[in-house]
Amino acid sequence: MLIHNPYDVETTPGGPGSAPSGATRFVGVDVGGTNIKSVVLSQATGTPEVIEKAECATTGTTPVEILQQVAEIARGHLDRSATPATLGFSLPGAVDRRTGVTGVMPNLPGVWHGVPAVDIVSGITGVQTSIVNDARAFALAESRLGAARGLRVVVGVTLGTGLGGGIVVNGSLLEGTSGFAGELGHQIVSLGGARCGCGNRGCAETFVKTQALVTATGLPSAQAVFRSAAQGELAAVSAVGTYIAHLAVALANVHTLLCPDAFVIGGGIAEAEAQLFHPLLDKMKALIMFDHPTSVHLRKAMLGPWAGAIGAALVASDATAALSISSAGRWTRAGVDSVEWA
Ligand SMILES: [Zn+2]
Repeated sequence: MLIHNPYDVETTPGGPGSAPSGATRFVGVDVGGTNIKSVVLSQATGTPEVIEKAECATTGTTPVEILQQVAEIARGHLDRSATPATLGFSLPGAVDRRTGVTGVMPNLPGVWHGVPAVDIVSGITGVQTSIVNDARAFALAESRLGAARGLRVVVGVTLGTGLGGGIVVNGSLLEGTSGFAGELGHQIVSLGGARCGCGNRGCAETFVKTQALVTATGLPSAQAVFRSAAQGELAAVSAVGTYIAHLAVALANVHTLLCPDAFVIGGGIAEAEAQLFHPLLDKMKALIMFDHPTSVHLRKAMLGPWAGAIGAALVASDATAALSISSAGRWTRAGVDSVEWA
C-alpha cells in the first residue's frame, strides 16, 4: 500500500553544509545487534530535517567496544558539522535515562548490567550525550515526524526479534517516575507461562517474538513463516494465529489503559501488512469492552529503519531544550495522509 511520508529522510543533496546556517544539529545513533544506523537532524525553524545518515556493521564484542564504536560514529558526524551539536543514542534493552547506566541487552554481546554508557560515550565525544531505549526512540520519531504526527496519545509498537514499545503523550515520551514506562512486551499475558528473557514468566514477548514463529514451524525467519501462512501451510497458519492472538491481548490491554489516538506498528514483521493488521485489529476490537470499536486505530510506521536513529536525535534535542516541541497548537491533528486500519 502506498504511504505518503511527509518527512524526507533522504540525505540532503548538498550534504550537511547545505542546511540553513545557524540551524541546531542533533546526532542520533541507533545500535542494533547486527548494524548501527546514525543520522544528523538539523532544525532552523519548523520541522527538523535529516541532513546526513550512515550505517555500518556492529563490530564491537563487548559493551565498551560497542560504546566506543558509537562514539566514533558520532565523532565523524560531529566533525563534519558546521555548528555545535549534541548526541543521543539508543540501545536495544534496558537503559536508565536519568543515570545513563544500562541494564539487560539480550541482543548485544557482553554483560551490560551496570555499564555507565552515557559517561563512556560522552567522555570520548566531549559533547552532551543522552540515551534511550530503541523502541522508545522509534515511538518518539513516529509520533513527531512519522505516521502519528499530530496525534496526542500514541503507542509505538516494534515487531521484530521481540516486542518493543513506547508511549508518547503530547509529543513527549511517557517514562513514569523511574523512566521505564512503556515496556509493552513485558506485560504478563499468561500467568505462570514460559520464562521470558527478562526473567519473568508469561510476558507478551514470550509469544510475540521472531523465535516463537521459527520454533513453531521450523522455518528460518518470520518473513518465511508469514509467506508460508499466506499459502495456507497449517503449521505456519497456526504460528501466525498464536502470534497475533497474543499481540492483540497485549495491545487491547494497553488500549484499555490509555485509549490512545493510534498504535503505530513498525519493525520487520509489520511488513506483513494486511496479513497482520486486519486480523490484529479484529481481535483487539473483540477484546476491548470500554471503548467504541471505531476508536481503535492501527497505523503502519512511516520512517522505516531510520526511525530509531531519528528518535535518538530527537532525545538529544529534548535534552538541550533546543526544540520548542511543546509550543501550543503543535500537536493538533495535522491531517497526515497515512495508511490506517480503523
Ligand atoms: Zn519479560
